[in-house]
Amino acid sequence: MNKAIYVIGGGLAGSEAAYQLAKIGYSVKLFEQRPKKSTEAHKTNYLAELVCSNSFKSTELINAHGLLKYELSRYNSLIMEVAEKNNIKGGKALVVDREKFSNDITETLYNNSNIEVIREHITKIDENINTIIATGPLSEKFLANSIGRHLNNDNLYFYDAISPTVIRESIDMSKAFWGSRYNNDDAYLNIPLTKDQYFKLVRMINSAEKADVHDFDKELFFEGCLPVEEIARRGENTLRFGLMKPVGLNSPESFNKPYAIIQLRREDKEGTILNIVGFQTRMKYGEQKRILKSIPALKDVEIVRLGSMHRNTYINAKESLNYNLSLKTKNNIFLAGQITGVEGYIESVMTGFISAIQMDRYIKDRSYYSFSKNTPTGALLGYLFENVSDKIQPMNINFGLFPPIDIKLKKREKRELMVEKAKKWIEKQRVEILQNIEKGF
Ligand SMILES: Cc1cc2nc3c(=O)[nH]c(=O)nc-3n(C[C@H](O)[C@H](O)[C@H](O)COP(=O)(O)OP(=O)(O)OC[C@H]3O[C@@H](n4cnc5c(N)ncnc54)[C@H](O)[C@@H]3O)c2cc1C
Repeated sequence: MNKAIYVIGGGLAGSEAAYQLAKIGYSVKLFEQRPKKSTEAHKTNYLAELVCSNSFKSTELINAHGLLKYELSRYNSLIMEVAEKNNIKGGKALVVDREKFSNDITETLYNNSNIEVIREHITKIDENINTIIATGPLSEKFLANSIGRHLNNDNLYFYDAISPTVIRESIDMSKAFWGSRYNNDDAYLNIPLTKDQYFKLVRMINSAEKADVHDFDKELFFEGCLPVEEIARRGENTLRFGLMKPVGLNSPESFNKPYAIIQLRREDKEGTILNIVGFQTRMKYGEQKRILKSIPALKDVEIVRLGSMHRNTYINAKESLNYNLSLKTKNNIFLAGQITGVEGYIESVMTGFISAIQMDRYIKDRSYYSFSKNTPTGALLGYLFENVSDKIQPMNINFGLFPPIDIKLKKREKRELMVEKAKKWIEKQRVEILQNIEKGF
């Protein structure tokens, strides 16, 4: 029997990882710091506490969140099973009884003879022990102290400043053009604004309702990365002389000397999804949607992620991790959960699941699993490991991450095709994964 595997952090990802490893037959020590020490967001002593909403979002397969949940259910995820068991009324969303959900997970893990739950705040890891680190988005010091030497400072982030991200296909391209400032390439999509359109936008930003901010997020205001509303508040022309300056671009004559320009940058090589440069924001979600859709080129835009600014510890996976979620410089240490650069409950669970089954492959010295980008898991891992942006932003699952369907179809038909493909791939992947879990070690 191998020495116990350590899982550090009994949140959503750590709980899933510990359970899957125990199911294979490994003995697991699951370290959870609460109740001795808590984070600013956790309120209970339960494992797998839901720190905010009790919704796991849509259950519809035509929605990427629904499809990711479907995939995890097909792989027999513990979190999914318990969430479904504690489902309460929530329309098309999987909403759970928060207390019962976390209580059930806690009991399941405590009652598992392969798992020892240890209530201890870990400050340093023993690099000789096979370990999964799943200490969550608020694990700032722990991550820096424990594996800091394996991470270049440039690859470890302590907050996210997310700009709204949209699907390129949904933009009215007759009102936009490709081009970079002072450079002859097509790195950016540019949306020119007339004087009226610009001042309307500034007025809307200035009067938009802002989201409530946690105390621990309040300090996150520094000049290099201001929310767009703060820049707008400083003067009606500040945006136009800053990130929206209409200079250095060869705008086609049809745009008639733009007064200001909104730039969008590619998130992936293909440019399927784009983020709006400099539009990190704390405006309420509804306000963001209203403002974006008031811009003529974005009238019918499909938004895959709205803007936000949070304390959030995460890494640049592409630079620091192997595709199996282990550290490049220490292959027996794996990362899981939001710290890998994914965003959201189910996305964190997914990486918990993946870290466990990949750890099994590592211990057995077998080649690790790879996942088709036609599945939600493969699409999200593809984002982590293939993104082209200079500062990776945490990402939730969305169809913009999937390989695009290049035939002329209506949006819904394209989605249906994507879902069909995904389901086929999931079944293929499932057979191999479940066989290996059943085989044990
Ligand atoms: C305030 C806030 C609200 C959020 N709201 C939502 C939401 O509504 N919906 C959504 O989809 N996503 C939300 N998220 C994002 C994210 O999905 C959740 O944070 C999710 O819980 C991440 O899962 P995780 O397993 O990575 O981390 P967590 O669930 O936070 O688990 C980490 C665990 O590790 C423990 N731990 C940390 N350090 C140590 C240590 N040194 N030793 C031992 N144990 C340790 C912690 O106590 C915790 O139990 C929110 C994030 C934050 C910060």
